[in-house]
Amino acid sequence: MSEAAQPDVIVIGAGVVGLSSALALQARGKTVTVLDREGPAAGASAGNAGAFAFTDILPLASPGLMRKAPRWLLDPLGPLTVPPSYALRIAPWMLRVARACSPARVEAATTAQTALMDLSKAELEPFLAATGTLSMLRRDGNLEVYESDAEWRASLSGWDARERHGIAFRHMRADEMAEVQPGLSPRFVRGTFTPGWFSIADPKDYVLALAERFRADGGRIERGEALRLRPDASGVTVEGAGLRATEVVVAAGAFSHRLAATIGERVPLETERGYNTTLPANAFDLRTQVTFGGHGFVVTRLASGIRVGGAVELGGLQLKPNFKRSTAMLAKAESFLPGLRTEGGRQWMGFRPSLPDSLPAIGFARGSRRVVHAFGHGHLGLTQSAGTARIVADLLTGRTPPVDLAPFSPQRFA
Ligand SMILES: Cc1cc2nc3c(=O)[nH]c(=O)nc-3n(C[C@H](O)[C@H](O)[C@H](O)COP(=O)(O)OP(=O)(O)OC[C@H]3O[C@@H](n4cnc5c(N)ncnc54)[C@H](O)[C@@H]3O)c2cc1C
Repeated sequence: MSEAAQPDVIVIGAGVVGLSSALALQARGKTVTVLDREGPAAGASAGNAGAFAFTDILPLASPGLMRKAPRWLLDPLGPLTVPPSYALRIAPWMLRVARACSPARVEAATTAQTALMDLSKAELEPFLAATGTLSMLRRDGNLEVYESDAEWRASLSGWDARERHGIAFRHMRADEMAEVQPGLSPRFVRGTFTPGWFSIADPKDYVLALAERFRADGGRIERGEALRLRPDASGVTVEGAGLRATEVVVAAGAFSHRLAATIGERVPLETERGYNTTLPANAFDLRTQVTFGGHGFVVTRLASGIRVGGAVELGGLQLKPNFKRSTAMLAKAESFLPGLRTEGGRQWMGFRPSLPDSLPAIGFARGSRRVVHAFGHGHLGLTQSAGTARIVADLLTGRTPPVDLAPFSPQRFA
C-alpha cells in the first residue's frame, strides 16, 4: 500500500463499537479505514434489542445470578444454557464469573459500569446529532415485570443499588403497570419502570446509517479479514487484509480475542449467544420495552417490528444456532402478552462478546500503544458505544479519558 493511501487508523470491525469509534476518530481529524470481513452491521450490532440500557449498571456476574443459575440451567431452552459439547471449554470462564460474584467485586464493577454508563449517556445525543441519527432515538423507558411479591422483593437490593447510583425508577402495582403497558398477563403483579432507558428505532439501520455517514465524511470501509496484527516502531500491519496504519483499534466483537492473541495477549473473551424473533409491527400494541427478568428476555418495539429476544447460550463461536430457543421464547411471550400475534416472525442469533466480570476491555494493548482494544461489551455494546468511542478517540489523540480505565484494562485478567 502506498504511503499516501495509508490511513492514520484502521478500525477492525464495522459493528456499532467499531463504527462509532471510527466516527469519533474522524471527528478529531484522523484518516480512518474500517475493515470488516462481511461489511457493516454483520454481527451482534445488527439484531440486538436496540436498548440504550443506561440503568443497567449491575454486573450480570452477581449473587443474584448465582441464585437463579441452577434453576435456569435445568431447562435446556431456558434463559441460560450450556450445550454439553461446550461445557468443558466454558468451565474456566464460568469459574471466573463465579469469582467475580463476590460482594466487593460486584460493588467495584457497579461503580465502574456506572461511570461508563454516565459517560455513554452524556456522549449519546451529541454523537447522534453529529452523525445525523438523532431522529432514530426513542425515549420509551423500560418496564421490568414480576410474577409475585416475593420475586419483586428479591429484586429490591438491586434497585437500592441503582438508587445509590442516582438512577430514577418507579415501583408499580398491576393497575399502574396497565397504564404504562396495557395488555400484560395478570400473572404479573408487580413492576418497576425506568424512564431513563432509551432505544434506537432499529439497531441495524442505525449501524448502516453510521457507515454511510462515515463514508460521506471521507472514511473508507474495506472488506477483508484481519488474521494477525504486527505492530512495529512506525505502525501496525494488519496481515490477511494487506493493510497498514499508524494505529489500530480492535473492535471485532466476539472474535476480538483471536486478534489480541496474535500480539501475545490472552483475554478471556467468550460469547453469550442470544436469540430473538422479530414479528411484524402490528403484532402487539407495545408502548415501552418490557423485561421479563425471571425468564431472561425482553419485548421491544422497533421500526422493523416487535422483537422478542434474549437468553444466554454459552456455546462458543462454532456451534450451529438452536432456533428452538427463539421459538420457546416466543411461546412464553404469547402467554405473557395475550393477544400477541406470533405469525410472520424472523429468527436470529447473535454473539454477545462477553468478559467474566461483565465489563468491556477498553485500553491499550499489552506491549504496544499503537493498538487499542475496544471489545467485550456483552449485553451493552449499543448502550456503551458512544462512551467507548469517546475513550478510543481520547486514547489515540493523547487526551486523558474522563473515566478511570483501570477496571476496563484488557490486561486485568493476566
Ligand atoms: C439477543 C441480543 C440482544 C441484545 N440487546 C442489546 C441491547 O438492547 N442493547 C445493547 O446495548 N446491547 C445489546 N446486545 C449486545 C450488543 O449487540 C453487542 O454488545 C454489540 O453489538 C457488540 O458490538 P461490536 O461492535 O463489539 O461487535 P459486532 O457487532 O459483533 O461487530 C463485530 C464485527 O467485527 C467483524 N469481524 C470479526 N472478526 C473480524 C476479523 N478478524 N477481521 C475483520 N472483521 C472481523 C464482524 O464481521 C462484525 O461485523 C444484545 C445482543 C444480543 C445477542
